[in-house]
Amino acid sequence: MTEDSAPTAAALEPDLAQIISCVGGYDPKALPVAMAKEVIGRFVQPLRVAERVDLRAALGRVLAEDVVAPMDVPAHDNSGMDGYALHGADLGADGAAVLRVVGKGLAGHEFTGAVPAGTCVRIMTGAVLPGGCDTVVPQEFCQVVGDAVHIPPGVLKQGDNARKRGEDLRAGQPSVSSGRLLRPADIGLIASLGQAEVMVWRRLRVAFLSSGDELRSIGQPQEPGSVYDSNRYTLWAMLQRLGCEVLDLGVVRDDPALLESALRLATENADAVITSGGVSVGEADYMRQIMAKLGDVAFWRIAMRPGRPMAFGRIASRGHNAVLFGLPGNPVAVMVTFYHFVRDALLHMMGAKAKSLPLLPVVAQADLRKRPGRTEFQRAVIHPLPDGRYSARITGDQGSGILRSMSEADGFLVLHHDQGSVRAGEMVDFLPFEGLV
Ligand code: AMP
Ligand code: MG
Repeated sequence: MTEDSAPTAAALEPDLAQIISCVGGYDPKALPVAMAKEVIGRFVQPLRVAERVDLRAALGRVLAEDVVAPMDVPAHDNSGMDGYALHGADLGADGAAVLRVVGKGLAGHEFTGAVPAGTCVRIMTGAVLPGGCDTVVPQEFCQVVGDAVHIPPGVLKQGDNARKRGEDLRAGQPSVSSGRLLRPADIGLIASLGQAEVMVWRRLRVAFLSSGDELRSIGQPQEPGSVYDSNRYTLWAMLQRLGCEVLDLGVVRDDPALLESALRLATENADAVITSGGVSVGEADYMRQIMAKLGDVAFWRIAMRPGRPMAFGRIASRGHNAVLFGLPGNPVAVMVTFYHFVRDALLHMMGAKAKSLPLLPVVAQADLRKRPGRTEFQRAVIHPLPDGRYSARITGDQGSGILRSMSEADGFLVLHHDQGSVRAGEMVDFLPFEGLV
């Protein structure tokens, strides 16, 4: 049920200048990271085109409507242990009892007979609790002599090891909310309701290209002064992980006509366009003038390191429009600007209600030089300390072209806008790259 004909949400987006004036005057040559994030956050809008997919195909997609439990889960009181189901009222004040076994209940094979006072039922984990039983004694806690179960004092109280009907989900209760980027637990939870399909927002289409005469694609011969294009690979990989549909437009030479046709093609076929390179003020950087020609684009120098130049806005071609991110060319700067600006914006466009990522305090292993007035994202590895904290060490040279500094790292050390230098032994914020996936 994809609605390809629906207008792109970009058409409804507000004017960039208007947002910038709301956020308050700023110097586009030294824009604080937080302000750039705010402008981007206000500008981009969710797509809001839904489609129905099989539950397994929904992993990593964004839920478009609340999933409501049609029934209680579990649907019946059941045993949480292998042991004996009993009436808690039969336990003595000290928890002891001697009970006669009157039957057996297995998961999927319920015991349907009566369980009179003073008796119990052999029961396995997940089996329905028989006739009024409200307590389960684990088998390892008791002794069986003939057909009698002896429960010693002090090991059990009424209600123990009994799972209650509806304790996981209650009928009518929203169990997974719209806007959730679906993870394995959500897929399992929806399956526990017996639901085979879910409504998700359609995938975001993101086109990307690299610009620069020096760039060669993998498979092309290297020449003096050339470098292999790595940005298209890191961008591809980061977009894959976000669950976007990607459109790779290759390397585009520093040529105004080629750049214009590539940007138009991107705009006509994608919701968002990401470029790398050509947004600083170098001589062959035609990117800026073409972007300005095609739309409503702001050119910023963000007060951050790495990754200062960035273009952001909306470009249009033949009735289609797309959100534009013009990232710097340096390979580390591309990743840093993607993670700190583009990722949030794309998640928002995808309809995801994502929480901001947690920063963990870690101990700086060595002095970190930093001047207030810009945000720095240094790459670091962390190691556990005997006191339970983690210490962080920078991954060598932090040049914005040194991709190894990212590859080796466990995450970013985030040195905030107003923060100054950090001394060895002081705490500093760390943003890990990996979570449970
Ligand atoms: P630019 O922003 O175009 O001035 O590029 C800045 C630096 O990043 C230059 O050293 C470029 O060679 C390098 N660079 C730009 N694009 C890429 C790319 N796609 N892959 C690897 N390096 C790049
Ligand atoms: Mg260039």
